[in-house]
Amino acid sequence: MTRETRELQPVDGKTFGFYCCGPTVYGPAHIGNFRTFVLNDVLRRVLEVSGMRTKHVRNITDVDDKTIRDSQAAGMSLPAFTDKWTERFHADCESLNCLKPHVEPSAVEHIPEQVAMIETLIEKGHAYPSGDGSVYFKISSYDEYGRLARLDQQDLDLGRTQNQRANADEYEKDSVCDFVLWKGRRPEDGDNFWESPWGEGRPGWHLECSAMSYKYLGETFDLHSGGEDLKFPHHENEIAQSRCACQGQFALNWFHPAFLIVDGAKMSKSLGNLYTIDDLAEEGVSAMEVRYLLASAHYRRQLNFTFDSLHAAREALGKLARAEGELAQAAGQESAPIYKELCKLDDLGVFAPALVALNDDLNTAEGLGQLFKALRIATTEGDPVVNWKGFHAILAALGLILPELEAPEAPPEVIVLAEKRQGARASKDWAAADAARDELKELGWVVKDSQDGYELETI
Ligand code: AMP
Ligand code: ZN
Repeated sequence: MTRETRELQPVDGKTFGFYCCGPTVYGPAHIGNFRTFVLNDVLRRVLEVSGMRTKHVRNITDVDDKTIRDSQAAGMSLPAFTDKWTERFHADCESLNCLKPHVEPSAVEHIPEQVAMIETLIEKGHAYPSGDGSVYFKISSYDEYGRLARLDQQDLDLGRTQNQRANADEYEKDSVCDFVLWKGRRPEDGDNFWESPWGEGRPGWHLECSAMSYKYLGETFDLHSGGEDLKFPHHENEIAQSRCACQGQFALNWFHPAFLIVDGAKMSKSLGNLYTIDDLAEEGVSAMEVRYLLASAHYRRQLNFTFDSLHAAREALGKLARAEGELAQAAGQESAPIYKELCKLDDLGVFAPALVALNDDLNTAEGLGQLFKALRIATTEGDPVVNWKGFHAILAALGLILPELEAPEAPPEVIVLAEKRQGARASKDWAAADAARDELKELGWVVKDSQDGYELETI
């Protein structure tokens, strides 16, 4: 709201409560949506790895203009349609290694809470029925309307005096006006309507986040987020609803990642540059490579997505995987520490500066820079076990899962020796078998007996 960076501390002294506007489930989410969701996940992880407890609430928008329109086009009931796309969203989030929110409420499951909020707004003089079964929020009743998006005074004055109303869920800045809280039932809504004191209808899109954040986080909570396009009208309207209906301050901080664009252009179906996680998987790109790329640029900057940058992400992940092998070996460790343990570390060894960078306005670009810088000294300076855990803490903060390294292929002379050993064993010539094993060792290979014969591994 103030355009300052603020130190984040839970307002209740215990748990950092934050609300992210979730997906509208009417199709597969695209990589732009996932830039916002992955950065929210990184924010949460950085707080947790830094020792803070969090409560993460992210809603599912399962009723609005688009879900109704597209469920009808698909010939499906609204719940069947939105369930299908919610499942797909969850599967994509899992492949991107996003932590599940602690609460994931849906708009349809919270109709009574939304109706109750409208009743309060009407009682307090902030909302009015329009006569056709709809109810609108009166923006002239709230002096601070427009502060978050820094709307032009001219647009605001016009919006306040013109008596115009927006019934659609989305509209542009130059049509600042009273917005809909309850939409009276229309024929095109089909079976999708609920009872209310104003007749049959359905809630307007902006209301669900006010009602659900109030229910799960209270009237004052730590942070609210969404992509930068949500500042206006969505978040502006949420603030108006919540501040006027409740006593509290609503969100104390705002987090708005900038947009992802593709090859310098806005993503859109018509340009053919709109990618989903599945589209990229078909091109041989792993979800983790996508995550690395989405997380690597600072959230305030627009991210230009290109296939070249995906290649760079693949290389970086390979480098990190090789480094992990070296660090684990130096520390004499095999399986990585669990996430909970990493959230309690008080010493990250040479990787401490990377967490400091992530804590500075979530500077992921600098955090990665510090991570690679620390790798140069991680096997020679400090305690190997502390460094190995510190490395894993940074991976956990970024939510990165490293690829399995492909085993190097054994050169011909190694295979010859291994075959020689097999032959010796078959004829029970144990001395010759041992000699071949020793020779292999000198070449840097170990041979392990397996069900199908043997396997060769580098030492
Ligand atoms: P939606 O499902 O349309 O409600 O969007 C889900 C989230 O994705 C919202 O927080 C949007 O602001 C965000 N979003 C949409 N397009 C992009 C984009 N190109 N880059 C980053 N975030 C986006
Ligand atoms: Zn919202």
